[in-house]
Amino acid sequence: MSGGHGELPVAARVRRLEERLIAAGLVTDDELDEVLAQVFASAAPANGARMVARAWTDPAYRDRLLADGNAAAAELGFGAGSHGYLLKVVENTASVHNMIVCTLCSCYPTALLGPSPSWYKSFAYRSRAVREPRGVLAEFGLELPDDTEIRVWDANSETRYLVLPQRPEAADGMDENALASLVTSNGLIGTAVR
Ligand code: FE
Repeated sequence: MSGGHGELPVAARVRRLEERLIAAGLVTDDELDEVLAQVFASAAPANGARMVARAWTDPAYRDRLLADGNAAAAELGFGAGSHGYLLKVVENTASVHNMIVCTLCSCYPTALLGPSPSWYKSFAYRSRAVREPRGVLAEFGLELPDDTEIRVWDANSETRYLVLPQRPEAADGMDENALASLVTSNGLIGTAVR
């Protein structure tokens, strides 16, 4: 571990920060617990998967999702809009594969994807996703054809991304619940096919 935070693990640094805020009278332990419980009660990759499954079954919803991600999330009861960032949904096609990263830190649409995986926050992913996306995807087991264009989207505090994977060929006749169950958080980040 390096940087200006000393050698403590993340959990200990977070706890130290919490204790300072509590000592300063800015917040109580109970308030912190309540806020975190609220955030994580509603934040899950099932939310993003639901949006994808709806887009796969409803072309008009797909169009709205690509045009205005915040409004399309709100339409299904998900609160990306309340977090104050622009949600941009990027669609995979036969010729284009999208992947998301935050090169600076770990910006991520948590409300739609749940807590970000630790690899998403790692220096290795943040630095390599832009430089050598094809190699990174191969390490995730995703080998793309040479002629597939890879677009890497760098999230920040104002704009965050969600990948709309391609609908599987064999999905004819599946209902929205069944389709949603095919979508993983890696698929929504773009490090898996779906
Ligand atoms: Fe970030």
